[in-house]
Amino acid sequence: MNKMGRIFNFGAGPSMLPLPVLEQAQAELLDYKGSGMSVMEISHRSDLFEDINHEAQKDIKTLLHLDDNWSVMFMGGGGTLQFSMIPMNFLMPGKVGAYADTGNFAHKAMLEADKIGETAVAYSSRSTGYDRVPKKGEIQMPHQAAYLYINSNNTVYGTEYHEYPETGHVPLIADFSSDFLSRPVPMDRFSLVYGGAQKNIGPAGVTVVIGKKSFLRGRDSRLPLMLNYETFMDHDSTYNTPPVYGIYIVGLVAKWLLAQGGLEAMAVRNARKSKIVYDVIDAYPDFYVGRAQKDSRSLMNATFNLPTSELEALFVESAAQNGMVGLKGHRVSGGIRASMYNAMPQEGCETLAAFMDDFYRRHR
Ligand SMILES: *Cc1c(COP(=O)(O)O)cnc(C)c1O
Repeated sequence: MNKMGRIFNFGAGPSMLPLPVLEQAQAELLDYKGSGMSVMEISHRSDLFEDINHEAQKDIKTLLHLDDNWSVMFMGGGGTLQFSMIPMNFLMPGKVGAYADTGNFAHKAMLEADKIGETAVAYSSRSTGYDRVPKKGEIQMPHQAAYLYINSNNTVYGTEYHEYPETGHVPLIADFSSDFLSRPVPMDRFSLVYGGAQKNIGPAGVTVVIGKKSFLRGRDSRLPLMLNYETFMDHDSTYNTPPVYGIYIVGLVAKWLLAQGGLEAMAVRNARKSKIVYDVIDAYPDFYVGRAQKDSRSLMNATFNLPTSELEALFVESAAQNGMVGLKGHRVSGGIRASMYNAMPQEGCETLAAFMDDFYRRHR
């Protein structure tokens, strides 16, 4: 625990936010820029919010090196609403939604698409406990593919793409919820990407969706307005009242990321942080059994098992007594999961690694 009473939160989401962001939000809480109101109280039609909205869009574009051919949109409904919106908008009759099934969130997305149209499993690591992502050439694209859908980082099992598939003329769509803005992304390969904010870039309640304008244009006008991407693109995400406060925090996080040196610097930092934890797993592989195959390891979520579930429970409990919370694995996977998103300082990973080393010595 540091002097402000803050602990290291290794939870998978909602998760840590950068301290300077929280401090700025605190300083501006009662009187945002001399308005005498908090951001929670201002109109979404005010100049103040228009600036917040546009600055956040601009900074996200700068971070990802995007030009004006791209639209940055803010929506509600979490990452999960995107599972449904994507097929509703892009899976037309006669076409097939191709899914790389690399984890439970990719799987859930595919099940939602099944309700809308035809889908195909283009790749699956389900039978091996979702321990990896596809290697080059392993994706089997169906004929008449409407798109290929991937999940960049598998939050539950701890795998992450380190190279994205080449899909040629087939649009590539990706769920970046748990590694959004954690490293540079070759955005020219993608047509639409999204991320729920609460893992890497803000509070729950806002989802950032980034699409190529040419891909978003021409949706079926019979789609309900709030389920049609064009509504968000054409109205700057303010057709109705958007999640104003969440967008404000996402904007502050984007500015913080720029001040850190952008995504190039974050990639170096995140690689260094996760290595500190994986090095301990690799040092005692019979005690800390990593779930992901090494070349698919996530820089965001390290997942591992201990020899018994009793030891796992003790690990979580003792870590909490030492100022590290949120280490219990996802309810579907069990085990231990250490989430090390952008806002987790290196000191947190060092503290966890030292704890793991000590725990091994006492319980091996
Ligand atoms: C958490 C998560 C989701 C679900 O997000 P919600 O905002 O809770 O709907 C979807 N995909 C991935 C990869 C996630 O980590």
